[in-house]
Amino acid sequence: MLMVAPKCYKCGGVGQVYQAHTGRVLCKKCFEEDIVERVREQIKKYNMIESGDLVLMGISGGKDSFVLLDVLSKLHNPSNLIALTIVEGVTGYNRRIEIERTEEHCMERGVKYITTSFKEEIGYSLEELVSQASRKGVKESPCTFCGVLRRRILNTMARRVGANKTATAHNLDDESQTLLVNVLRGDYNRFFRIHPMSPRLHEMLVRRIRPLRKIYEWETALYAYFNGFGFQAYECPYITLRPTLRAKLRRFLYAYEEKKPGSLMRMMDVYDSLLDKKRPWGDLGELPTCIKCGEPTSYGRDICKVCEIIEKITGV
Ligand SMILES: [Zn+2]
Ligand SMILES: [Zn+2]
Repeated sequence: MLMVAPKCYKCGGVGQVYQAHTGRVLCKKCFEEDIVERVREQIKKYNMIESGDLVLMGISGGKDSFVLLDVLSKLHNPSNLIALTIVEGVTGYNRRIEIERTEEHCMERGVKYITTSFKEEIGYSLEELVSQASRKGVKESPCTFCGVLRRRILNTMARRVGANKTATAHNLDDESQTLLVNVLRGDYNRFFRIHPMSPRLHEMLVRRIRPLRKIYEWETALYAYFNGFGFQAYECPYITLRPTLRAKLRRFLYAYEEKKPGSLMRMMDVYDSLLDKKRPWGDLGELPTCIKCGEPTSYGRDICKVCEIIEKITGV
C-alpha cells in the first residue's frame, strides 16, 4: 500500500506538522510563518510595540526565549531590541553555554546583548539565598525567590538601559496556567494583570509585553528545533521544588488539551474577549511604594517582596 503524506493546507507542499488545535497540516515553512503571523497579530491588536519603543527582552536561553528573540527580530528593527540574561548563580548551572549561544543568536540578528546576575544586582546568588533560607526555616520555594527577583531585575534593568517595554517569552501554556492559578486563588488584581491592555500600576513599572501568549509550548519547541536551536544542556536543579499548584494545573491542562485540542486557546480567547472591550480594571489604583527600596510593591504592603526575602534571610 502506498502511503501518501498529507499536504500542507496552505501551499500544497509536503506536510510536516499537524496543528491539533486547528486540525490542519502544515509544511515547515508555513508552520513558521504561521507562528510569526500570530505573534504579529497579537502585537498589533494590543499595540505591544509601537514605533520608537526600545524593548528589553528577558532571555533565559531556553527554547521559548529563543523564539521570542527570533520572531521579534523578524518583526521589528533589531536596533530597537536588547536581550538580557540574568544569571541566578547555582553551582553546576552557571549558564555559560546558554550565554555563549544566546550571544551568537543575538549577533546573527543584530540585537544588542547584555547579562547580569542576582549577585550583582541584589548582592546574593540564588544558591546563597536558598541555603540561608533553609537554615532559617523560610518556607518559600527557590522558584518563588527566583521569579520575584527575575521580575524585579528585568524591570530595573529596563529603566537603566532606557527601555520603555520589557518582553518575556511566556507562551500560551504558561498564560493559561497563570490564569487558572489566579482564578483558583480568587486573586482579583492578578486576574486582570495578564491581559495585555491592563494598566501600568506604578510609574516605576515598565510596561510588560508577552508576544508569545497565543503560541502553544509544543509550537515554540518545534519552531526552535526547526531553526537549529539545541536543547538546554542543564536543567535548573531546583525544578522539582516548583510550586505545586502550578505543577498540578500544568499536568491537568496538558491532559485536557490532549483530549480536546484547542482548549487552552479557547480559554484564553474567552478571557481576551471578556476583557478586550470592557477593560473592567478602572478601580485598581496605583500600587504602593516600598518604604525600604522605593520600588513598587503589592496592594496592602509597605515593603516589597524582594526586601522581605532579603530581610528574612539575612536579617538586614
Ligand atoms: Zn506550506
Ligand atoms: Zn523593597
